[in-house]
Amino acid sequence: MKKALLCTAVLFLLSGCNSSAPATQTTAQNTTEPQAQPQAVTADRETVFQVSLLQGLTLGDYYGSVTVKELKEKGDTGIGTFEGVNGELVMVDGVVYRAKSDGSVEVAPDDETIPFSNVTFFDADTTEEISGIANIGDLKAYLDGKVAEYGKNRFYMIRIDGSFKKVSARSELKQDEPYTKTLAEALATDQREFDFEETTGTVVGLFCPEYMKDLNAAGWHFHFVTEDKSKGGHVLDLDIDKAELKWDNTDGFNMLLPETKMFPELDLTKDQSADIKKVETNE
Ligand SMILES: [Zn+2]
Repeated sequence: MKKALLCTAVLFLLSGCNSSAPATQTTAQNTTEPQAQPQAVTADRETVFQVSLLQGLTLGDYYGSVTVKELKEKGDTGIGTFEGVNGELVMVDGVVYRAKSDGSVEVAPDDETIPFSNVTFFDADTTEEISGIANIGDLKAYLDGKVAEYGKNRFYMIRIDGSFKKVSARSELKQDEPYTKTLAEALATDQREFDFEETTGTVVGLFCPEYMKDLNAAGWHFHFVTEDKSKGGHVLDLDIDKAELKWDNTDGFNMLLPETKMFPELDLTKDQSADIKKVETNE
């Protein structure tokens, strides 16, 4: 947090310097005029940070490349997984949680590493009440309507906080080195599914635009954690009773190419859309 604030301050100073370039600028007072400041603040916090490509993970590169501690410097809200696909990652309010293969949740240690994740600093641009959304198809249709309105070529992080009649989720058993199975192969035997009935909690959702289909999964991806942070997972289906939906519309995308031993050799030209649909949705 401190680092982010410092960055913002530096950017603001730089903006101030730039604004001194035009011939019209004459006094120091002009640097305190508001036009430069909001852009600098927006650019600093409004970026989706991604560790690796989803296509690297789905090919079986489960080696972590950033630590939980480092990830927390890139955002306070997001989704992902851990080294060896050791559970589903959901980050809420700056805390990184692991939903384990039995659906229970723990706080992830700072030194654990992460092979794939998307995070951002969550600043709600809009907030609304939603209710009676009976399944994930209806939720996606509702959210897609909003995307059409807000713009389909941006990234959106959302939070849904409220009560749920049901959340169907999954996690998976940790894979052991050497990692020889693709994610679809690993999940075929090691995925575990669970239903949480009449529960309260938070869904964190990411929308990637269609042009991201070779770097991630286009469309929506949701992870869930209960309000008491005891249960959670990758959402397969849900039934929302009543909740608050918040959107964070982001302006930028930043992807880290991992320095794992597998990454240089991966064939990332392969079309994995069928595998990705399978691992994301069980279809
Ligand atoms: Zn997931």
